Amino acid sequence: MISQDMSSPLEAPVCRRCGMCCLRGGPTLMVEDVSRLVSGVLTLESLVCLRVGEWARDDTRGELRPLEKEHIKVAGLGGQAHPWRCRYYRDGSGCAIYAQRPAQCSALFCMNTAPLEELLGNEPLLGRAEALKALAGGEQLPGFPDVNEETRAFLPDLMAAHEEQSPVTPVLEAAARLGFAPRGTQAHGNGMDEGEERQALLADIGEAVRADAAFRQLCVERAGVPAAMLPFLLGRPLQYLLVEVGLRPAASV
Ligand code: SF4
Ligand code: SF4
Repeated sequence: MISQDMSSPLEAPVCRRCGMCCLRGGPTLMVEDVSRLVSGVLTLESLVCLRVGEWARDDTRGELRPLEKEHIKVAGLGGQAHPWRCRYYRDGSGCAIYAQRPAQCSALFCMNTAPLEELLGNEPLLGRAEALKALAGGEQLPGFPDVNEETRAFLPDLMAAHEEQSPVTPVLEAAARLGFAPRGTQAHGNGMDEGEERQALLADIGEAVRADAAFRQLCVERAGVPAAMLPFLLGRPLQYLLVEVGLRPAASV
């Protein structure tokens, strides 16, 4: 929890840089953060795209809902305690990019959320297409100097083709119809009985998982996309998203 505030009751509370918010999760990027990508402060390797249809907490409504827009987020480091812990947070010294931290980090203050709410309400989120467009002009891709021109030029098409071929929404909707959805959502636990419809949904999900995995493999083996870039370019594998809602790959494939 946040450490004890030793300031006078008459003084306005200030951020003590305790890092608790950084441990809970890194920011999602706004359009104004694109300069941090171009300068290389943030590299594509450090980011993950949360795609349309993924379950995410809507803090304004206080509930989990499928995302209506994609979010580019600083990827977590995994682990049990803080799986979304920001990768730029350093124990003992705090944020490694503090002077150039993303817009949401600058606006966030746990004791007064108004500036962050204003930012989220008035400024657009950064999407993958805009990020790639901004990065197209540089001599090399920050963090990936070995990616050649041909591959770089192909990245937006790969992203769009994957989104068309392997969208998240129908897969997680099918999982929800089978009763695999996050706790606290309406679909959680309302699984249908064994039957043809259930088997058909499982078959569809299995096919979607296989197609998604094959697309990723092709990107790496044929198109020369670094595997470390895939969470940004294509989001997380459908298989992972299903595991998150309790549908193990063994049940879906
Ligand atoms: S905003 Fe709050 S939780 Fe985050 S570092 Fe500052 S005091 Fe800590
Ligand atoms: S970028 Fe820095 S301030 Fe923002 S969440 Fe990460 S460690 Fe915290």
